[in-house]
Amino acid sequence: MRSQFPHRIHSQQLFCCRCRKVTEHGVFAREPYSTYGGMKPHIPLLCKCGQCSAAFVGFSNEFAFSRPAQAGDYAKVYGHSRIAAGNWLYFKGTPKPGLVKSYFQTSEREIIVINYGNGPDQKIEREHQDIVEEKSPEGYRLLPAQSAQTLLGDNVYHVKRDKFGFAVGLVKDGDKDKLAVLLEDDSVLFITLPEPAQNIPNDKLSGLVLDKLRQLFAEDVNRVSVTVGQGVVYLEGLVRSYLVRRSICACINNMPRVRGCVDFTKIVAEPGITDSWIENKVYLCLESFGHNVFDYKVSVEQGRVKVSLHSFEDALPRDLETRIAEIPGVQDLDYSVVYLSESGVQNQDVCDELEQSFLNNPRFQDAKIKVSYVDDHYLLEGRVRSSLQKQFALVNVVKKVLSTSVENRLRIIEGK
Ligand SMILES: [Zn+2]
Repeated sequence: MRSQFPHRIHSQQLFCCRCRKVTEHGVFAREPYSTYGGMKPHIPLLCKCGQCSAAFVGFSNEFAFSRPAQAGDYAKVYGHSRIAAGNWLYFKGTPKPGLVKSYFQTSEREIIVINYGNGPDQKIEREHQDIVEEKSPEGYRLLPAQSAQTLLGDNVYHVKRDKFGFAVGLVKDGDKDKLAVLLEDDSVLFITLPEPAQNIPNDKLSGLVLDKLRQLFAEDVNRVSVTVGQGVVYLEGLVRSYLVRRSICACINNMPRVRGCVDFTKIVAEPGITDSWIENKVYLCLESFGHNVFDYKVSVEQGRVKVSLHSFEDALPRDLETRIAEIPGVQDLDYSVVYLSESGVQNQDVCDELEQSFLNNPRFQDAKIKVSYVDDHYLLEGRVRSSLQKQFALVNVVKKVLSTSVENRLRIIEGK
């Protein structure tokens, strides 16, 4: 499986079930993701032990480095963390953390107003403490209570043992799923996850997934094989299009208690489809929209399509991405849109007028020309039938706007 995950994106201390200890693991992805600024959820990652090469699959949203949006709460531990209003704060020896309403300090005293959720605010006054070294600025997961929310790499504080540490694994131990934690005394602790966070047994989960796929993807399900392990769904086989493949993955990722989907399916190859054929189809799709879609760039390499475009807010056709994704031969789609406000764009009336004049001009009868104004220049996009037509279009615009800042991106599509 390692060959399917060629890109090393991270390394971290994780528990290896074969070595039975915490070792440095390489974290590999199928695409060259950057972990800077976080990662999207549900991206499968292969974690490989640096000592014995044993590997397991996890998902981006299970790792602290991906900074998932739904990460839940971290608590500051009094005496170990800097405190601000809005933090959850835990005093050692108390039953639970409270929400800091205000925090005030002088050189000798600090006053914390805190609420425990079941009564009025409490005012706590203590002697001022200097935090010399703050090991985890965002705070800690309090264990064992927060074991189900804990991400791999999270800093933790074990309340009952009064020990700090960090999360190093989600492991199957006997018939239970457990969170593995490396504590500051180098011991590894396994905490049984609460029932709702336990993985569904493999045969039950694969049954649920197959039922769902039969229901929603009847046409494709017979060519797809599903295997399941520890809440992870692995897909192999053939699907009709990139759109189907992406929809199947999204559907599985949205099923309750599925950790994630690792998709090894292949898209049925259709004879005669080349990158330039796909590229032309993508352009035709972009050109089929009026002035709401402009300043676009397309590249296709071995079926992997990259599209970036500009659009006016609220005016982008919703199904544009889907329409590109269903073009035959597309293996992958990287799609990005920059939204602009229509009122913030200059010379829109001139652009509209120019487009209209091309429409009315018999010389451009079989052409499709869009004019927009971006980055202080006029931009021509669309398609014409000959290089002569392309030149004429440019000349027309230059004459009309009395400026030479015109970029001519017209494509020449010969023949019918
Ligand atoms: Zn190992």
